[in-house]
Order: sequence, then structure tokens, then C-alpha cells
Amino acid sequence: MIIVLKRTSTIEEQRELIGRIESMGLTVKDAGSEHHGVLGLIGDTTKIDITQLEAHHIVEKVMKVQEPYKLASRTFQPMDSVINVDGHLIGGGNLTIIGGPCSVESEDQIMTIARAVKKSGAHILRGGAFKPRTSPYSFQGLGEEGLKLLRKAKEETGLPIITEAMSTEEFDIVEEYADIIQIGARNMQNFALLKKAGQAKKPICLKRGMSATIEELLMSAEYIMAEGNQQVILCERGIRTFEKYTRNTLDLATVSAIKELSHLPIIIDPSHATGKWKLVEPMSRAAVAIGADGLMIEVHNDPENALCDGQQSLKPEKFTSLIEAVGKIHAVV
Ligand code: PEP
Ligand code: MN
Repeated sequence: MIIVLKRTSTIEEQRELIGRIESMGLTVKDAGSEHHGVLGLIGDTTKIDITQLEAHHIVEKVMKVQEPYKLASRTFQPMDSVINVDGHLIGGGNLTIIGGPCSVESEDQIMTIARAVKKSGAHILRGGAFKPRTSPYSFQGLGEEGLKLLRKAKEETGLPIITEAMSTEEFDIVEEYADIIQIGARNMQNFALLKKAGQAKKPICLKRGMSATIEELLMSAEYIMAEGNQQVILCERGIRTFEKYTRNTLDLATVSAIKELSHLPIIIDPSHATGKWKLVEPMSRAAVAIGADGLMIEVHNDPENALCDGQQSLKPEKFTSLIEAVGKIHAVV
């Protein structure tokens, strides 16, 4: 439920109203500006008598939010959220390019790729240190050693780091090293992890689960935001369908739907969405054309020998030409 306050209301009057609502067991988020008082009510709003609220002398109007998510809803916050990562802005019309390997494999590998993606024009470096692999026998990532190598890559290139936290146990250590903490598709509904992410001070990149609906994605964002962390970036990375030619099916409509439903930035990961490097650039062009806020692309200097996802990784030269191509499209959009 959202309450729009009269412009003439004083801080004291607002505090009195907030106190009254909070005494009913609800949380009140102040989403107003200097000129406009807006309160978002979080919790079980069935306890509230709307007519009584509407009659309150400082209330302009009361709106029931139809969606089950509130903090993530555009009704609650009409303006786009813009997330500042080391001075680089994600959302609000900017195009963010994230590039890097699926996994950090060695110092030589991550440093080579970090230098290359920086040269190509990427804004952020990706690289998994804790890897969610389908098989327990596949490479599981270098763990903390991988995080240290990512830090080294950041020190040399200046690129902020995005890397995944797979569980609450390793979350703090990942937060220490990462500039953006990724929650992977398989963990989109790991509610303990989402709550932990909500207590973090760093932005979270939340990837859509492979069988999750758009509403479920937004509800998971709501979990993070309800804990106090408003810095959430959504990522569409393909969903499971009957199609087997591609690894997943890229649901591009998600971008337009999210833009309507939410103020949060949404980026596309065409690498995991398609599983084929040849499809990465065409899907990136499409994503930028329909207004995605960014792209997360797997890049590897030696895809044939990559320990993870080489088949969907671009070589640095291809990544450079992709950035040039999407830059032109973004300028037109
Ligand atoms: C990844 O980005 O490293 C990854 C594992 O992706 P997803 O969670 O989308 O499968
Ligand atoms: Mn991967």
C-alpha cells in the first residue's frame, strides 16, 4: 500500500502517522522527496482500514499496490534506480558492459583476460571463484584464492569486480572482495542467501532462476530490498523451455516487462542464455535495442581450453567488435 501525503504536511504530522501505522506491526518506508511525501507500507496491510487512512488530514490519497512486491515496484518508485559502482552508473539510460571468464582459473588467465576486456571497453570484470556446477566432478572454482586474483586484476586495470556468492557461509568473504555480489540462477530462491544479501552494503546482481517467472524474480529482489539493501540489479540469463538447440531460451520480453513493473536496472547475459558464442553478439544487439541496461558476457583468451563454458565464451577480438556494435545501437536508442 502506498500513501501520498499532502504537500502541506509537516514532519511532526508525518512522524505521528508513521508511528500509528508502525504500531499495527507494519514497516513504513519513506519514498518521498523534498516536495512530495510518499510512504510505502510493507507487511500485512489487511489490518489497515483504508477509509480511515483516507480521512486522515495529511493524506492526499491511498493506493493499493496490486503486485505482491512493493519496494521493487515502479508504483512505489517511479524513477529508475541508478546504482553506483566505483563511480560507474548502472541504470538510468547508461549501458553497462560486464566481461570476463566464467571462472577464475589462474593468475595468468585472469590477468590476461582482465587486460583484454579493459582494452575492449568493458566497465566491469566478471569471474567466478565459487562456481555452481551441475556436476560435482567439474571444476568448482578457486575459492578465496580466486577472489584474491580478482582483486589483483582490479588493482591493475581499475575495473570493478562482479563475482558469485553461492552460500551464506562464504557470503562475507565474497563481499569483502567484490564490488557487485552475484546471486546465480540456481540460488534465486535461496531465501537465506537473499536475506543475507539484503544485509550487505554492496550491490547485488540477482540472476533469474531458469524456471522462475518474472514475478518470482521480483519477489526475490523484494527479499533483498526488504532487508535494507536497495541496490539490486536484475539479470535475465535464459529460461528452460523445450528447445534444446540453445542452452536456455533468452526471454527478451523480460526487459520490457521489468521496465514497466519495476524501477530496478535489468541486464542480459546472452552467454548463459544461448550457450553458443556465435549467438552472443546477435542477442546482445537485440538486448540493447529493446533497452536493456547492460550486458554480461563471458570472455576467454583460450576458449578451447577453458575450464568452464568455453563454448559460449567470446575471444577478446569478438568482444571488442560486440562492444562497438552495441554502442552504435545504444546511441540510437
Ligand atoms: C555465472 O554467471 O557464472 C553463472 C553460473 O550463471 P547462471 O547462474 O545464470 O547459470
Ligand atoms: Mn558460465
